[in-house]
Amino acid sequence: MLTIAVSKGRIYEEALPLLEEAGIRPVDDPKTSRKLILQTTRDDVQLVIIRATDVPTFVEYGAADMGIAGKDVLLEHGAESLYEPLDLNIATCRLMTAAHKDAPDISRRVRVATKYVKTAKKYFAELGIQADIIKLYGSMELAPLVGLADCIVDLVDTGNTLKANGLEPRDLIMNISSRLVVNKAAMKMKHQAIQSLLDQFEKTLAKR
Ligand code: AMP
Repeated sequence: MLTIAVSKGRIYEEALPLLEEAGIRPVDDPKTSRKLILQTTRDDVQLVIIRATDVPTFVEYGAADMGIAGKDVLLEHGAESLYEPLDLNIATCRLMTAAHKDAPDISRRVRVATKYVKTAKKYFAELGIQADIIKLYGSMELAPLVGLADCIVDLVDTGNTLKANGLEPRDLIMNISSRLVVNKAAMKMKHQAIQSLLDQFEKTLAKR
């Protein structure tokens, strides 16, 4: 049995067609079912649909053999403990700094609100900017509006969320997409099953 952990929401929606090409379709709809482990149309594959930040943890400890998670989450987790063999090129977006549209450019010291603490620290350190990082778990856009931070580090897709709040994107930190990650022990113990799924995903991606 292979267990695949998939991030809830947009990543799951965009991963579904890829999984289907490999014959993997959940038997129950996770939107309506309360089951946490989803059986699929393949007897040898089950899915767990979980919070994005939990995916690398499940895969690292071998609770899931494979996972699908955003590069943003993998960077924060520290992905040295996982194999990351495939860029699935889904749920693409940009990790950016953003600030109020009237705010001055970032100078030598800045207060930053983000859930990407590690990544933001590294980014500002490399620029030689002293950043005081404030960890938030959501609604980052609010922080500059109420004086909690000078800027934020967050994912930007269309830019509509920023715009709706009077903010604007500033600097690109990294282009983001979802990656397939694999538990290191499972890669050895279940090599054939995992490799054949990897091949199938690669074939589907090559056709896109
Ligand atoms: P947008 O308004 O289209 O720029 O989307 C920005 C909002 O959607 C922010 O709250 C982001 O955190 C979230 N978001 C955008 N792209 C993604 C993604 N690929 N994965 C997860 N969240 C995303």
